[in-house]
Amino acid sequence: MKLIDIINNGKYNLSFEVFPPKAESSFESVKAAVEQIAALQPSFMSVTYGAGGGTSRYTLDIAKDIMEKYHVPTLAHLTCVSSTKETVKNKITQIKEAGIKNVMALRGDLTPELEKGDRSLWDYRHAIDLVRELKESDTDLCIGCACYPEIHPESKNQIEDIKYLKEKVDAGCSFITTQMFFDNNLLYNFLYKIREAGITVPVIPGIMPITKANQVERAIKLSGSFMPVRFKALVDRFGCDDDAMRDAGIAYATDQIIDLYANGIKNVHVYSMNKPEVASAILNNLSGIVGK
Ligand code: FAD
Repeated sequence: MKLIDIINNGKYNLSFEVFPPKAESSFESVKAAVEQIAALQPSFMSVTYGAGGGTSRYTLDIAKDIMEKYHVPTLAHLTCVSSTKETVKNKITQIKEAGIKNVMALRGDLTPELEKGDRSLWDYRHAIDLVRELKESDTDLCIGCACYPEIHPESKNQIEDIKYLKEKVDAGCSFITTQMFFDNNLLYNFLYKIREAGITVPVIPGIMPITKANQVERAIKLSGSFMPVRFKALVDRFGCDDDAMRDAGIAYATDQIIDLYANGIKNVHVYSMNKPEVASAILNNLSGIVGK
């Protein structure tokens, strides 16, 4: 099923992101966690793709499992940074053979080694190159791409970031999913600016439930997200008590999602980090809203 049909179904949708195992030894435990999340029957699930190739070989296995065993619509991520045309074309063939209709087209993060390398040798410099490649290979694929309410860390400013986002969308994206954020006002400001710039496709906010204090530093480093005072107070107070932090993190994420729904946003994606208990708690908190 194409994601755009779910995104536009007029209901309050909630979806989850999972990531494949980093090593073969953890394949079974990750598969079990993913299956528990799929059993919750979210609106769809996305499966990430390791930029450096580390976890990428499992993305399709996991995505197929979700689709075939749980009949949950699936979005397979694909990155292109430092890949050759041949590798990407092979991956696209595998995606199509697996019956996957939805692909998240990403550049991937620049590792320190890649930063040092010779970029003139790269077949793909930006996600837009992958969007074009996917569109060329199959016009029927439903393609999504990433956006950054707080600006991509490599961008000079938001105007430039939004200009490139528009080019990426115009190349063939049906929807865009945001980087995590902890203050909904940042999302509302971003939405205003991209609509003004002529980007009209649906935007799916990405919400990261922080359920452990040590996630905070990693999340900020990864996304550069602003931490509101209200959120900092919660981490300061409950960060050293695992049970309390889990409850507080789930409550904060739930509150963010309810505010998004209340402000007219119909689709929210949760970075569930392969934690079925977190996905299930959030879905339970929203059981009177999701699907209506
Ligand atoms: P791009 O769209 O290429 O943008 C990267 C930077 O280049 C931005 O600063 C942009 O403004 C600029 N830019 C874009 N186009 C041009 C152009 N034509 N000329 C000049 N500059 C340009 N990473 C993974 O490795 N695996 C995943 O599965 C994964 N999933 C993600 C899912 C979401 C929802 C998000 C938000 C991020 C995800 N990432 C993932 C991280 C992502 O790969 C990084 O954030 C990466 O640094 C940028 O990827 P992008 O696709 O946004 O790149």
